[in-house]
Amino acid sequence: MPTVEVLGTAQDAGVPHIGCHCDQCESARTKEGQQRYAAAVLLSDGGNYLFDATPDIRFQVTTVPDGVFLTHAHLGHLPGLLFFGQEAANTERTPVYATEGLNDVIRNAPPLNLLIEQDNLTLNDLAPRATVVLDAVNVESRPVEHRESLPTGTFAYVMDGPERSLLYMTDIDEWDPTTRRLVEEVDIALVDGTFWSEDELERTEEVPHPYVKDSIRELDAEQTEIYFTHLNHTNPLLDRESEEYDRLKAAGFDTVSAGTKFEL
Ligand SMILES: [Zn+2]
Ligand SMILES: [Zn+2]
Ligand SMILES: [Zn+2]
Repeated sequence: MPTVEVLGTAQDAGVPHIGCHCDQCESARTKEGQQRYAAAVLLSDGGNYLFDATPDIRFQVTTVPDGVFLTHAHLGHLPGLLFFGQEAANTERTPVYATEGLNDVIRNAPPLNLLIEQDNLTLNDLAPRATVVLDAVNVESRPVEHRESLPTGTFAYVMDGPERSLLYMTDIDEWDPTTRRLVEEVDIALVDGTFWSEDELERTEEVPHPYVKDSIRELDAEQTEIYFTHLNHTNPLLDRESEEYDRLKAAGFDTVSAGTKFEL
C-alpha cells in the first residue's frame, strides 16, 4: 500500500525562527522535540519520492530519495536540493520534477547549476496538470496562485493512489475557485496553515495566505479530511493546548505532526 509520511510541518523558516525570541521559538531552542522542520512529505510507492527539498532535509530523510517533486522556489521548498551535490549525497541523476521556470533557475543559477553539470540531478519540466506515473500512484501537477512576484510559478500536487487521493498544497494566496476545487476533489488534503489570523505579523499583506480561522469556516471538512501544515512560528496552532487548536478540532479539522502517515 503506498503511503505518504509527513516530514515537516513548519513554514519555510522552521521553528525556531532565526532572530525570534517568542515563546514558541525559545521553547523550540531549549526543549527536546519542540523544534519543527519546514513542510515536506515523502511518498513511498515502489521508490521514495520527496515533495519539497527543505533546508532541514538532512534531518528529514534517512535514505536518499529516488525522486523529488518541487512546489516552488521559496526558502522552505528548494535549497535542500544542494544536499544532492558533491558535498553531500553526490547522487547520480536523481529525477527532479518542477515547473519549467523553476527548472530553468536550477539549470542556470550557480550554485544549483552544478547539480546538473555534475549529473547529480535530471530535470523534468512539468506542464500544468501533467501526470507522472509512479508504481501504483499517479502524481498530478496543479498550478496555484502564490505571490505572482515569483515568476517561476507554484504547483500543488495531487497523489492519486489505488484507494485514496491526497493533495499537498502548502502555499496559496487565497481560497479561490481553483484551490477550493482541489480540496473538494481529493480524499485527504494537506493545506496552507501558515497563519491562524492577521494578528500574527505586521507585514501579512506582503505575504498573503488564507487565515486558518477563516479557512475552517470556508472549507468542508465532511467531504474531505483536511489538515493544516506549513505553520508559521507565530501560529497558536503549534500549541495543542491552545484555545485555537480546540476551535480547529471542534470544526472537524486538524494539524499534522512529523511522522504522521496516510495510506493511499
Ligand atoms: Zn512555503
Ligand atoms: Zn518565534
Ligand atoms: Zn512560498
